[in-house]
Amino acid sequence: MLDVVFLGTSAARPTVERNVSSIVLERDGETLMFDCGEGTQRQMMRYGISFALDEIFFTHFHADHVLGLTGLLRTLGLQGRTDPMRLYGPAGARRVLGEALRLGVERSSFDVEIVELDRTGCLPRRDYDLVTFPTDHTRHSIGYGLVEHERLGRFDPDRARQLGIPEGPLWGRLHRGEAVRLDDGRMVDPAELVGPSRPGRTVVYTGDTRPCQAVVDAASGADLLIHEATFGQEESDRAGETGHSTAIGAAQVALAAGVRRLVVTHLSARYSRDARELLDQARSVFKEIVVARDGLRMTVPYADASGQG
Ligand SMILES: [Zn+2]
Ligand SMILES: [Zn+2]
Repeated sequence: MLDVVFLGTSAARPTVERNVSSIVLERDGETLMFDCGEGTQRQMMRYGISFALDEIFFTHFHADHVLGLTGLLRTLGLQGRTDPMRLYGPAGARRVLGEALRLGVERSSFDVEIVELDRTGCLPRRDYDLVTFPTDHTRHSIGYGLVEHERLGRFDPDRARQLGIPEGPLWGRLHRGEAVRLDDGRMVDPAELVGPSRPGRTVVYTGDTRPCQAVVDAASGADLLIHEATFGQEESDRAGETGHSTAIGAAQVALAAGVRRLVVTHLSARYSRDARELLDQARSVFKEIVVARDGLRMTVPYADASGQG
């Protein structure tokens, strides 16, 4: 499974309806958090997010993306956590996050490691990569992409039986692309019963940014693009001045990148209660768009809709 949960969708400050930025990716039992605005730990409780997470990734260090860290780590300490925690962010992470750690934690029961990432980089994982790309917001701001590795092609069990291949380890070897020799001496080529390898899923999160080519490139063909859309069209000048995007700007990036689906978040307080205006504006450019709200959970399906495998 691959789910995205929006814990906070408001820009700059919380409102009655929306908390400040944080999103969580849940994938095969792993929980990855991106940004951690003030009050994020309470949003985790409200929306059923595990406190057993080991990694938090920051896009930049404006207060509405980091102030929740101190309280969250303090709670984890009070719970008696012993597992280490890793915090990732762009240049400046050691200084800013280091201060946030010292603030609230007199005596920590667990180790916290801070990792500074390149603006264009890759953290390889077992079956996916986490890539970073520069965004157009602050000098060091970055976005993140979770890019799953290709999956094995589809194995045809009926064909395997027709070919007289006994069920068992030979099936596994063929599925992994190995040619095998049967007891009667026949060689079986995997192409006879295994389809072509299938793409994994890609989710891209921008954090705060103006529309920019680096995001278009990183999100090219993505299954889901999570783009900020702080302002409506009437404030497009302000968006540019403050390093943010309009809903239309986000939609144009989605269109240029050819993503399957766009979710916009980080909304200015004036759209907190009613974001239809932003939705209508963005939809005039890109149809497959959703405006995030706190607590929204989205499952990211495989492009070939084949479900698991
Ligand atoms: Zn922000
Ligand atoms: Zn910012």
